[in-house]
Amino acid sequence: MPVLVMKFGGTSVANLDRIRRAAKRVGVEVAKGYDVIVIVSAMSGKTNELVGWVGETSPMYDAREYDAVVSSGENVTAGLMALTLQEMDVPARSWQGWQVPLKTNSAHGAARIEEIPTDNITAKFGEGMRVAVVAGFQGISPEGRITTLGRGGSDTTAVAFAAAFDAERCDIYTDVDGVYTTDPRVAPKARKLDRIAFEEMLELASLGAKVLQTRSVELAMRYNVKLRVLSSFEEQSDTAGTLVCAEEDIMESNVVNGIAFSREEAKMTLVSVADTPGIAAAIFGPLSEAGVNVDMIIQNISEEGLTDMTFSCPIDQVKRAEKALNDAQAAGSLAFESLEADTEVCKVSAVGIGMRSQSGVAAKMFKTLSDEGINIKVIATSEIKISVLIDRKYMELAVQALHDAFELEKA
Ligand code: ADP
Ligand code: ASP
Ligand code: MG
Repeated sequence: MPVLVMKFGGTSVANLDRIRRAAKRVGVEVAKGYDVIVIVSAMSGKTNELVGWVGETSPMYDAREYDAVVSSGENVTAGLMALTLQEMDVPARSWQGWQVPLKTNSAHGAARIEEIPTDNITAKFGEGMRVAVVAGFQGISPEGRITTLGRGGSDTTAVAFAAAFDAERCDIYTDVDGVYTTDPRVAPKARKLDRIAFEEMLELASLGAKVLQTRSVELAMRYNVKLRVLSSFEEQSDTAGTLVCAEEDIMESNVVNGIAFSREEAKMTLVSVADTPGIAAAIFGPLSEAGVNVDMIIQNISEEGLTDMTFSCPIDQVKRAEKALNDAQAAGSLAFESLEADTEVCKVSAVGIGMRSQSGVAAKMFKTLSDEGINIKVIATSEIKISVLIDRKYMELAVQALHDAFELEKA
């Protein structure tokens, strides 16, 4: 029988009523003749609570124990979903990641999936089971420890299962009815897209649109998984939601198709470093070794052989970045006058594959922000995106102004 993957996010399994509602949707697909693999998240808010408990218990926590704790929310919803289905006379059972086993590498907190053996679940389908409920977000390392796939990782579990089982489709049920031109909670004029290209979705996700985890889009693109995002609160239909698909399958497209933003950014400046060959390596080498994800970089004009180097990184990595650079200074491999951290910034990005062939997008973006009196602190561009770092207090204003300027409310 054809296999369908259905993933339910935190708000879609937030309480027993919602789990029942989700289970009914699963029942509809089972009645159509599908064998269904259901991937569940933890109840909404649960993972945040668990992450908080870990931090309170141990600020410099052991990542293996972090994973043991934060993966547990999904165990509860997987069992409850299986029980709910059984109550509806749908043959179902639950699997935790290690039982599948969903094998990952040992990068605790951000593990990558290496293999999903299908024999175990396929055998159960052969015996008449109709739904395999799998706890999302978690796997098992080569050392036999529980791992997690990074925040939002259940999306990636779902796409990986769809690829492994050659599923007909991977449906991601969430609290919005599809992918929008920007987060509808920030810009009420945001428009739902019927289709979006993998490349654009990948950029939007990696630039902060958390509707899909970046890695899930990467996997869907690589294995050509038919990926759909839709609401678990609205009526079901075969054309609901947004289809994430190949560029060729999209008839028409605007130059800019989406605005993404990320609040969790910080801007760091090393003041007065020597402007000599090797300076970038002396700065970014230690940062990389310390696991700091540096994003945007600018080197300022040099005066008397000294320059300022500015970069951005996730706000929760500021302490780690400071330590790495101060250690490098203490060890004598780097010299700077001071290190300044600005934690009141955010990143706003415009994304569109049309940018490859059309110029003027950057100019329009900068003019729009300047008309609103918003100062741009750092700029970064790639083939299909332009990102700026601005003061966080202007984030909503910038997103809305750019949405208007690029007329994203119009198809
Ligand atoms: P889930 O718990 O179902 O995984 P998430 O909270 O991870 O749900 O993702 C859904 C949220 O993503 C929406 O509630 C919305 O606020 C946010 N979001 C950000 N950007 C977009 C976008 N471009 N389109 C739709 N939703 C977006
Ligand atoms: N529960 C996990 C999180 O909140 C994984 C997920 O929901 O995708 O990050
Ligand atoms: Mg999510």
